[in-house]
Amino acid sequence: MIDLHTHSTASDGTETPAALVGSAATAGLDAVALTDHDTTAGWDEAAGAARQRGVVLVPGIEVSCARGSRSVHLLAYLPDPAHPVLVAELARARESRDTRLDRMVEKMAADDIPVTVEAVRAEVRPGATPGRPHIADALVRGGVVSHRDEAFARWLGDDSPYYVTHYAPDPVRAVEVVRDAGGVAVIAHPHSRTRTGTVGDELVEEMAAAGLAGVEVHHRDHDPEAVAHLCRLAEALGLLVTGSSDYHGAGKRNRLGEHTTDPATLAAIEERAGGSEVVRP
Ligand code: AMP
Ligand code: ZN
Ligand code: FE
Ligand code: FE
Repeated sequence: MIDLHTHSTASDGTETPAALVGSAATAGLDAVALTDHDTTAGWDEAAGAARQRGVVLVPGIEVSCARGSRSVHLLAYLPDPAHPVLVAELARARESRDTRLDRMVEKMAADDIPVTVEAVRAEVRPGATPGRPHIADALVRGGVVSHRDEAFARWLGDDSPYYVTHYAPDPVRAVEVVRDAGGVAVIAHPHSRTRTGTVGDELVEEMAAAGLAGVEVHHRDHDPEAVAHLCRLAEALGLLVTGSSDYHGAGKRNRLGEHTTDPATLAAIEERAGGSEVVRP
């Protein structure tokens, strides 16, 4: 079983990279990709755990991108984590996420929602990529809501008045940067519904022309219609099809291995990659 999309405490997951790899072994996964938002900070710890636990680790990143007001997530597998342009893009996104988190919390506090910048900061592990789930965690810890889901439903959704955007590269440029860094680019959950709707076929085509390698088709945000549509699109554009859980530990209901990718597809990703190596036990 292969699961190519998970998050650890290096971004907004609730398990450390080592614990996540342990959970992957327990769940019976043969291979897992660690794809934290805009960072490679969890890779080394996950690699050590993978060797110990007998799980194959695919180092990855979920790169935040935006086209106008539309948010697009791009999975990058096996890029060189030291590639200067990639490093600079990720750092810029993380810094902007930092400022943005404070601005969201200030707007919420000004509206008498019981949350402070300090409480939210305390939920972010040193060096981790901050995100809205950390605001949710502060609200859970304060007993204001019972789960991240509730915080998102009430205050943190894409259409919330407290929502603030952050810097993110254009998706076509992100594909180019990932490729330059030797990585393999796969668009994440393109039919996830956000405030600006789903990612249109035209944008996927544009990204394909820039070197996109695949589409994450099998994902809990995709209904059967979306899956059928994206399968046809991938076929027409000659793109790989992946499936993944988008596991966030206890932070989301997604279970490891709830959607999977076939071994031939992982082999194709590995063959195209030139930036870093799959970690084998
Ligand atoms: P951000 O990266 O700060 O824009 O926050 C988006 C992150 O929040 C994504 O990684 C989602 O997985 C997570 N997220 C979105 N909706 C929910 C929800 N209802 N419950 C928990 N996490 C969520
Ligand atoms: Zn996340
Ligand atoms: Fe995502
Ligand atoms: Fe994700």
